[in-house]
Amino acid sequence: MGPTTEMHTLPVFDENGIQIGFQQVNRLISQTQPTGNLVKSQPNIHPSQPASDSLHPNSKNWTSIPLIDLSNPAALTTFIPLDPQPLSVCELDQGVIATLLGNLQGGEWDPWPNGRFRLDLTHTEYMATKRLAVQWATKSNTTRSRNSSVGSSTIAGGKILNKKCLGVLICTVEGCQFIGRPQVESAGLQKQLSARCYCGGQLKHDHCSSRSYLITWGQQDGDISTTQYRYINGTAHTHSRLPGVVRTTAAEDQRFRTVYENRPNATSTQLMVGAPAPQGFGPSAADLGQKFSQRAYTSYRLNQEKKKDGNGPTSAFGNLQNLQKWKGKHSTVPCKDYVSSDIVCISLQTEWMQQQTLPDMSDVGDPLHGLLSDAAHKYWEDPNGRLIVTSIYSPLIEKWVPVLFTYANGATIAHYEYHFLILIEGIAATVTKRQRRCD
Ligand SMILES: [Zn+2]
Ligand SMILES: [Zn+2]
Repeated sequence: MGPTTEMHTLPVFDENGIQIGFQQVNRLISQTQPTGNLVKSQPNIHPSQPASDSLHPNSKNWTSIPLIDLSNPAALTTFIPLDPQPLSVCELDQGVIATLLGNLQGGEWDPWPNGRFRLDLTHTEYMATKRLAVQWATKSNTTRSRNSSVGSSTIAGGKILNKKCLGVLICTVEGCQFIGRPQVESAGLQKQLSARCYCGGQLKHDHCSSRSYLITWGQQDGDISTTQYRYINGTAHTHSRLPGVVRTTAAEDQRFRTVYENRPNATSTQLMVGAPAPQGFGPSAADLGQKFSQRAYTSYRLNQEKKKDGNGPTSAFGNLQNLQKWKGKHSTVPCKDYVSSDIVCISLQTEWMQQQTLPDMSDVGDPLHGLLSDAAHKYWEDPNGRLIVTSIYSPLIEKWVPVLFTYANGATIAHYEYHFLILIEGIAATVTKRQRRCD
């Protein structure tokens, strides 16, 4: 029997050795050799797109994890060079092609920067890229040099930080596709190397000499917003990318924010499936970036966004925000609220209700019923909550009609005082409106 492949789900660890997710890896298995010996023919494990069935958009399977392009060596970052090229100003940027952040592929920061290029950035741009965060396994060091400072007026005098690539962990068994993220600390790395690959093979550290530099300079009077940066990317990596990512990029964050703003009430599952569209479903959250392909992560991020908006399930601010939104949506409905150390009240009155407080007095033959107020005890879940309602008899429809509703978190004098104040304000507003109409 010929060789077949089998999907294995393996844990993915970040640089600190903490498990952050799972990756799916194709493993070759041979029916005749069940001992784990691997055959040479290679399965294609480099699809950049998740497998999707375009013929059946309704049966979209968001649970399949999109795989990262694991070409070896990894693809180089493409960019449009500046024209003309500025002169280099220090030893580190000699012969390195200059470009701009917006000239990089896709017009945004590449979290897998690869190959020689350099960029100048303002502090705002630098922060917007999450400090030029990368997905490679790296270790940062300060390059010691005399008189270098962030306050330097020249790039050559700026403070230098370098990021050394830590390479990848690979398996020594031919045909095994395992790729691991090396830990930063050598003790952790040794532990990783002493462990066996899932195929039973010996792991090996594939070193890489790529080293990137960040020069920080131009800061005026300690004001961080004036800081300038020159980033010089290292030589091309001599290995593939890593199968798991440790973070989202700033651009992915922005796209997720937009998705959330468009569907603020969607659950994480709904975000994973994508918005209903005429032909099945729209893009899934998993299409936003590798990390969003993990439902647990998308769910976590969704809660973070909700919290930020005060919409979190347990957020008191969320309720206030919702009240404000409601008021904005129903601007013709006078809604007033009051919170003090003693009372919480929210009053509601539509324009029609307000008009009813001032009955038509032209036909004085009709008996006047006046305003009737009462508080319902069991309307709200809160046992102390009251729904205070003031009603008036409408001779037109021959019914009692409500003119003011108040939620009150109790039934003290202060609660009623508030309710009647709002009632009188409403009557006064109606009188003013009618007088204006008569003038
Ligand atoms: Zn292996
Ligand atoms: Zn590398």
